[in-house]
Amino acid sequence: MATLLRDAVQLTESQQLVRSSIGDICADFDHEYWRTRAETGEYPHKFVDELVEHGWMGILVPEAYGGAGMGTQETVVMMEEIAANGGGFSAAQAVHGGVYNSVPIVEYGGEDLKSNLLPRVADGEASIQAFGLTEPNAGSNSTAIETRAEASQDGDEYVINGQKIWTSRVDVSDYLVLVARTTPLENVEKRTQGISMFLVDLEDAYDQDALDIESIPKSASDFVHSYELWFDDLRVPAENLIGVEGEGFYQVLDGLNEERLVIAAECLGLGRLALERAVQYATDREVFGNPIGSNQAIQHPLAEAYARLQAAKQLTYNAADRAASDENVDLGAYANAAKFLAADAAYQAADAAVQTHGGFGIATEYDVERYFREARLTRLVPITQQLALNYLGEKVLGLPRSY
Ligand SMILES: Cc1cc2nc3c(=O)[nH]c(=O)nc-3n(C[C@H](O)[C@H](O)[C@H](O)COP(=O)(O)OP(=O)(O)OC[C@H]3O[C@@H](n4cnc5c(N)ncnc54)[C@H](O)[C@@H]3O)c2cc1C
Repeated sequence: MATLLRDAVQLTESQQLVRSSIGDICADFDHEYWRTRAETGEYPHKFVDELVEHGWMGILVPEAYGGAGMGTQETVVMMEEIAANGGGFSAAQAVHGGVYNSVPIVEYGGEDLKSNLLPRVADGEASIQAFGLTEPNAGSNSTAIETRAEASQDGDEYVINGQKIWTSRVDVSDYLVLVARTTPLENVEKRTQGISMFLVDLEDAYDQDALDIESIPKSASDFVHSYELWFDDLRVPAENLIGVEGEGFYQVLDGLNEERLVIAAECLGLGRLALERAVQYATDREVFGNPIGSNQAIQHPLAEAYARLQAAKQLTYNAADRAASDENVDLGAYANAAKFLAADAAYQAADAAVQTHGGFGIATEYDVERYFREARLTRLVPITQQLALNYLGEKVLGLPRSY
C-alpha cells in the first residue's frame, strides 16, 4: 500500500537515486528514534549528521561550489522520503532550512559570498538553517515588516533593529537569512519595494550582544524549535547584503513557488506515513472477532486518504517537472494548489489514522497523535491554507482582491 503511493509517479533516474539513497539513510532511524526526539524535544542531530555526511544538505548547491547541483524535482523526492520513512513533517522541517536557505545566495549572492559560504554549506561545515521573515505586527502581510536595516554613514555596514517571530532552527544554525526594510514603508511607491535580504552570522551577532532569542513553547513539530528574536543595533557588513538593496521582497518571491512544492511533498510524506501505520493497525487489530479494517467505517476513510494523497502527489510532481522545464507556466497556480491539497490530504490521513487506533490514537507510543499534530501544523505553514486560496482566487481566477 505505502509502496503504491511511493510509486505513484514515474521517477527520473536521478529521482530514483535520491529515493534509494535517502531511504537507506532513513532505514537506520526507526519509529522509536523519532518518538524519543519528540518526547525529549531534542533536535535529531544524528540523523541530520548522516544527511550532511552524504552531501544532502548541498542538494541545491551548484556543482561548481561543491554541491550536488540538483533541483526541485529531486528535492521533492528527498523531503517526501524523509517524512514518509518515520520522521514525519518534523524530520523534513529539521533540515528544510538548511537545504533551502542557500538558494537566495546561489541566485543573488555576490561571488565572494558564494565562494566563501556555499562550499562550506555543501560539505556541512556551515549551516544556514534559519530564515527570518515573519514579524508579530505583520503576520501574513509580509510587506508590513518593521525591522529596519540602515546603511552606516561610510556605507561599510548596515545597522539592524527590530523583532522577528517564529524564526525556526536558530539553535542549530550558523547563519540567519534576514529580511528587513532598508526604506521605510512610507517612502516607497509600492509596498513590495524597499525590503532587503541579509546574511547574519549568528555567532557574531551574539558576540556583539545585539541579538536576543527566546524559544516559543508549542504543541507540534516538537524537536524543531522556533524563536522570537530581538535585534538591537546589530551591525552587519555591507557585503552580507544578498542581492540588490530594496529588491529583497522580489528575491523572496522568486524561489517561493518551488519551495512550496517541496513543502507539499513533505505533507505527502507525512500523509503516507500516517496511512501506512493506520492500515497496519487496521489489519492487525481484531475486535468482535474480525480485523477492524473489515469495517467500512474504518476502511473508507483510509481509502479516501489514499485517493486524496494520490491526487495531490500527481499535481506536486507534475508541477516539479514543469518547474524544471523551460515552459513558461504560472508555477504559483500549481504550487499553491499543491500545498493546499497536500496539507489537507495529510490532515485527513492523520485524522483517519487516529480514529483507526481508537483510544490508542492518542497514546504517544503509537505515534499517530504526533502525526495528527504535525498535520494540523501543515495547514498553517509556511503560509496558511487561506492565503494559498487567496492566491488562487485572486491571481488565477482573477477575482477582486479583498485586502
Ligand atoms: C512552527 C512554525 C514555524 C515557522 N517557521 C518560520 C520561519 O522559520 N521563518 C519565518 O519567517 N516564519 C516562520 N513561521 C511563521 C509562519 O510563516 C506564519 O505563522 C504564517 O505565515 C501565518 O502568519 P501568522 O501566524 O502571523 O498569522 P496571521 O497572519 O496573523 O493570520 C491569522 C489567521 O488569519 C487568516 N488571515 C489573515 N489575513 C487573511 C486574509 N487576507 N484572507 C484570509 N485569511 C486571512 C490567516 O490565514 C490565519 O488563519 C513559522 C510558523 C510556525 C507555526
